[in-house]
Amino acid sequence: MNQRQIFLQNVAQTSTAPLAIAIKKAKGCYFWDRKGKRYLDLISGIAVSSLGHGNSRVVKAVQKQASRYMHTMVYGEHIQEPQGLLAQKLCTLLPNQLNNVYFVNSGSEGIEGAMKLAKRVTGRFGFVAQELAYHGSTQGALSLMSDDFFSAKYHPLLPSIAFIKPNEIDDLKKIDENTAGVIIEFVQAEKGVYALDKAFALALRKRCTEVGTLLIADEIQTGMGRTGSFFAFEQYGIVPDILVLAKSLGAGMPLGCFIANKLLMENLQDNPPLGHITTFGGHPVSCAAAYAGLIELTTKKWVTEVSEKGDLFVKLLKHPLIKEVRHSGLMIAVDFGHAALNHTIIDACLENGLHVDWFLFNEESMRICPPLIITKEEIKRACKIILAVLNNQNATN
Ligand code: PMP
Repeated sequence: MNQRQIFLQNVAQTSTAPLAIAIKKAKGCYFWDRKGKRYLDLISGIAVSSLGHGNSRVVKAVQKQASRYMHTMVYGEHIQEPQGLLAQKLCTLLPNQLNNVYFVNSGSEGIEGAMKLAKRVTGRFGFVAQELAYHGSTQGALSLMSDDFFSAKYHPLLPSIAFIKPNEIDDLKKIDENTAGVIIEFVQAEKGVYALDKAFALALRKRCTEVGTLLIADEIQTGMGRTGSFFAFEQYGIVPDILVLAKSLGAGMPLGCFIANKLLMENLQDNPPLGHITTFGGHPVSCAAAYAGLIELTTKKWVTEVSEKGDLFVKLLKHPLIKEVRHSGLMIAVDFGHAALNHTIIDACLENGLHVDWFLFNEESMRICPPLIITKEEIKRACKIILAVLNNQNATN
């Protein structure tokens, strides 16, 4: 059997139509398939490879840590230098109250941990989430999904989840004395890049404080510079009680975390202890990669250049077939207002060596989420290809 046949036969699939690009190598903003075709990566493994592929500082850190030690004991037992360095560095980038990091394996696990922490801190079990938000595929995180197209077959899920419409101040009444936590994204990714209004975010923070509910920020996609600041919440002038990170945190290695005040986090230690347990969470090789990635992000200009690069995409992507371009830094949605057209454009871009994608809850928009290290020249080339694909589409219709 060739690799494609093995992939289809022995590797579990999530859809009947996988992209099935056979990856040979990846470097910088590009990856190559086994036939040698080069793709400009405008997706970054969905907001993971922010430093591109094969960043030498990250690769060296992985190699060095792998040769020192890999797994030694479940999370939270042994003192492992990479975890300590990373936690300390993350906390220096955050407001003082966010000073304690619980490392996990993924975004979903980070959301689960944050929800469990909110239950322990408040003694409540209700949650409030935004409509059309994605917070993960495990059953707690899946309960936070308003649209049951993807979740109905897994019911019953968690009870007592209420949904609010983003920017609908009246909906904040749904947050009450039974609500343990409110989970929000400052820029809703899978809805197709929709940002919260500042006034709504301020009112939300106020409401949570009034009723003693924890505000949980899912910055799994928006974190680590994607929206032009290190964390999206910085642009809103409010501080969440729990911050959840994953995706680009590991600089290409699997890693997630939830961060809170140490006094809150101590609730997981006692009565009963082991409030959340994870064998591989905070794996030392992942933490070493993440620390190297963080040094790269904080010592170079990648984050400060994000807004300008995002604006360049918006400036160049002007075409009669494009209804709207929404963006927050390098989180971009090109809206065609038409699902079939969107899929045709995405396929044609792929054929032309441009890896773009769609959104879970928005089939009419094309996702652009490139590595933050993308150059202006690469942006111009990418937009040129997209516009040529659109012109071709105009010509054939
Ligand atoms: N929250 C958001 C905003 C996400 O985009 C994702 C992943 N797409 C998750 C949570 C879940 O993360 P993971 O796939 O690592 O479990």
